[in-house]
Amino acid sequence: MEGTGFIEFVDLCYRLEKERGKKGKVGLLKRFLKGLRREEIASAILLTTARIFPLRDKRKLNISASTLSKVLKDTGPPPGSPTLTIGDVHATFSAIASVTGKGATSRRERTLKELLERATGPEREWIVRIIIGEMRHGAGEGLLLQALAELAGLPLETMERAYMVTGDLGRLGEIVLTEGRKGVEGLSIRPFTPLKPMLAEMACDIDKVLREHGGTSAFEYKFDGARVQIHRQEERIAIFTRHLKEVTESLPDVVKRVEEGVSARDVILDGEVIATGRDGRPLPFQDLMRRFKRVYDIGRMVEEIPARLYLFDILYLEGRPLIDLPYRERRERLEALCHKEIVAPARVMSEKGEVERFLDQAIEVGHEGLVAKALDSRYTPGKRGKRWFKLKPAETLDLVIVAADWGHGRRKGWLSNYHLAVRDRDTGDYLPVGKTFKGLTDKEFEEMTRRLLLLKVGEEGFTVFVRPRVVVEVAYNEIQKSPTYPSGLALRFARIKRIRDDKGPEDADTIERLRRLYLKQFERKARRL
Ligand code: AMP
Repeated sequence: MEGTGFIEFVDLCYRLEKERGKKGKVGLLKRFLKGLRREEIASAILLTTARIFPLRDKRKLNISASTLSKVLKDTGPPPGSPTLTIGDVHATFSAIASVTGKGATSRRERTLKELLERATGPEREWIVRIIIGEMRHGAGEGLLLQALAELAGLPLETMERAYMVTGDLGRLGEIVLTEGRKGVEGLSIRPFTPLKPMLAEMACDIDKVLREHGGTSAFEYKFDGARVQIHRQEERIAIFTRHLKEVTESLPDVVKRVEEGVSARDVILDGEVIATGRDGRPLPFQDLMRRFKRVYDIGRMVEEIPARLYLFDILYLEGRPLIDLPYRERRERLEALCHKEIVAPARVMSEKGEVERFLDQAIEVGHEGLVAKALDSRYTPGKRGKRWFKLKPAETLDLVIVAADWGHGRRKGWLSNYHLAVRDRDTGDYLPVGKTFKGLTDKEFEEMTRRLLLLKVGEEGFTVFVRPRVVVEVAYNEIQKSPTYPSGLALRFARIKRIRDDKGPEDADTIERLRRLYLKQFERKARRL
């Protein structure tokens, strides 16, 4: 057998599955990686995370669950002893992913069957887990990075950053094991190797955002589109999604905008593409997705759903990474090198009222909200943090108070933690979906305590149950599934915006609306490219 046996990989996986502790798992990974040949390292690392290719590689295995079970049924008994190498398995997967054209499905099935026929029982089990994409051995990217950091003698943070720069865990492992610490430290951003984009944390409170950013922040529209990273060197231009997939072919109009509107020739830019209607207003995200998925008849799509490009960052220029420069300086360069029309407008502001007006304006012209960026912030690839905040107008719900807990500490003597409920139109019941003690002034707490005591129908421990009469407008950050509430849903970070004396319980929002909002939010999450 040329190379390390696949059975050794299988053995590692079983051990990882059995080992509960993180330290133990990292130890197993280190020992295994050290024993590999140079040419096996990348494949073995990728297979450990159930991947065949690095993130940016567009190829897919294209084996469905039903194909897999059909092939498994057709496969004869396993051989008595293992003969496959890690290289064999990886190469076969690559071959399967490269099959295209007429009869592709049956050719894929044949190749998979041949592979399975050469695999012993345990090997088959792990080949299947790789295909399904669920290893369930508890050693994901995080622990692999830890193992690589320890092997290179570098802090985890350095390894994480190196990963963001290469976007390829397999290649990173190869560098660690062949070039060591020096190799990792020498890694640097370069065109056509996409890096993970920087992300923003959610915020609803403009004051808090300004405070976090030292009183002043740069605000840009939050476009409801798809993140793009654009790499250019001389004539070549490539566009990558936030998951580092290349989508250049589907976006010839964006390529053209870059050719015409960017003067730099050796550059990496970050931005958002949105679909627009004939009137120039943003179209829903689904329309844009039709553009991204399109591989044929692209010309017609370009006409039907024109895309607009808004650049908001520059990460590399003429041989030099710029991610460690402060936002302010990156922005200056971006503006100097790109046509105004393709740069996201940014406004530096320190007044809450001004920010609110800009937020209203963003919604008015059809965007999602604003993104606030700290003027002195570095670009941290792949990180979601407080240096960038996304600000959306908070969604609110009108909910009914059905119970309240007696407060303690400063709130002693007040009913201060309110149980909030939605209306069930079918049964007329009020179903609790969250609790909050946030949002009222001391005076309002006092007043509310008096009102609720008049509506009291029972008491249990600290909780006073009341007739559902008082309606409050509640803001929240997220709707979550809840195992405890019978409604099945719960609000995260609920806070009272206003007491709605103008509304009665029959005006409160319904469980149907909450379910719809939950699904909408779910779609948003799922669709992130
Ligand atoms: P979310 O997907 O909700 O975490 O929001 C972050 C996303 O907002 C980013 O990945 C971008 O695709 C998008 N976005 C829209 N406008 C901007 C902007 N001006 N700056 C940064 N990200 C933006």
